[in-house]
Amino acid sequence: MEHESCIFCKIVKGEIPSKKVYEDESVYAFHDINPVAPVHILIIPKKHIFGIQELEERDECLVGHMFYVAKKIAQEQGLAPDESLNGGYRLVFNVGKDAGQSVFHLHLHLIGGRAMGWPPG
Ligand code: ADP
Repeated sequence: MEHESCIFCKIVKGEIPSKKVYEDESVYAFHDINPVAPVHILIIPKKHIFGIQELEERDECLVGHMFYVAKKIAQEQGLAPDESLNGGYRLVFNVGKDAGQSVFHLHLHLIGGRAMGWPPG
């Protein structure tokens, strides 16, 4: 299912180096090469999916799993909000070029370690 020229498929296969954070049978997570915050991790499906814009019904569980993995990683990274809801992190899918998507292999950004503004740019 991988795409020959896809950079993230190459990362999953180990053909391009990455700093792995987590891996299981369906998902891979690694540090973003150009972090926008103290913690910036990408959670991706091992199989090639172009982006949310081409998501299929059969992939619903996979995307849910990506969010669960993101939550577990955020906890491990010490980003989980406390009882007062202080702390926290952001989970982002950029969908299409206007949203800033530049890599067309589905990826969930986990960004944290600093306060963030809203609305995003
Ligand atoms: P943007 O580049 O605007 O953030 P995306 O939402 O498509 O768009 O995010 C792609 C992300 O992939 C970027 O944050 C980028 O820094 C990251 N990235 C690109 N190549 C690599 C790589 N080889 N290893 C780790 N992260 C990478």
